[in-house]
Amino acid sequence: MAKKRPKYFDIIDNEMVLRKLLWLRHGCPIHILYGDDGEMQCGNCGIDFKRDDGNQIEKRFETLGLEKMMRDGGA
Ligand SMILES: [Zn+2]
Repeated sequence: MAKKRPKYFDIIDNEMVLRKLLWLRHGCPIHILYGDDGEMQCGNCGIDFKRDDGNQIEKRFETLGLEKMMRDGGA
């Protein structure tokens, strides 16, 4: 039987799965995404899904949403 790892590592594993899903499904075309060597970056959003913390990613999405709204002439 495999040695049970501390719960901390399960949380990290789980977060990396969620980060990967967010990276793949946040709406940008897949050909723009950079994923070599385990990286999870988006050249369109400028978000590093592997390293940026959740608050940074949220702020960036908010900024991008506002930019899009201004571009589309909404508000
Ligand atoms: Zn993106």
